Amino acid sequence: MRALRRTIGGLTGLALLVALSLVLWANLRGRPEDLPWTPLDLGQPIGAFTGGKLTALTRDFPACRALLDQAGVSYAVLPPRRDGDRCGYANGVRLVEDPRTADGNVRRIAFIPAGLRLSCPVAAALAMWEWNVVQPAAQRHFGAQVARIDHLGSYSCRRILGSGATGWSEHSTADAVDIAGFRLSNGTRITIARDWRGDTAKAAFLHDVRDGACTLFATTLSPDYNPAHADHLHLDQAERGSIGWRACR
Ligand SMILES: [Zn+2]
Repeated sequence: MRALRRTIGGLTGLALLVALSLVLWANLRGRPEDLPWTPLDLGQPIGAFTGGKLTALTRDFPACRALLDQAGVSYAVLPPRRDGDRCGYANGVRLVEDPRTADGNVRRIAFIPAGLRLSCPVAAALAMWEWNVVQPAAQRHFGAQVARIDHLGSYSCRRILGSGATGWSEHSTADAVDIAGFRLSNGTRITIARDWRGDTAKAAFLHDVRDGACTLFATTLSPDYNPAHADHLHLDQAERGSIGWRACR
């Protein structure tokens, strides 16, 4: 009995020590998102638990909308949609270009074609990707801003592309978006199809934004994965249980 009590005491002490170390580490790095229990804030730097918290928004549309509102992202709520028994969404938003949000910590990149419709958790992750990954990478590699992102859309009632896969794509619930390229403020065009390979600043930029996406999305697939992704980055918020393995290829 005494031995059992000592074991329990030891385990409690160990758990406390781990929690304290986490808090200390998060505070040292200045990243509240390094802690599993802090509420998600899209304006905070990316931490160890940001990706998991973004994916978990799939289960809470009101919380996701509140985060977009708080971060100043302009969007409109889409009516729920159902196509057959495998496709549709109940947490869709449409990105809105808002001329009033021309400065500060708000969405400034235009997604072309305009009016991108996607699930709220993917919109939230895209906003964080833009602020924390895409713009800093453009600044590092080109000394310029990204003015627009060319996309291939989100919602599409279909199965997974390539590699003989047969499951339903995250596109069938609008929980995915395909990114084809970027245009800089100085007019430079960068596309996944043309610029992924080689020893160029454009290739380095594309690999950096792919790697950064891996910290925010449950799945990130690039041309490194298979020929079906030769011309785009596939980013999605697939839910894979509470521990949830993440794919970064
Ligand atoms: Zn895709």
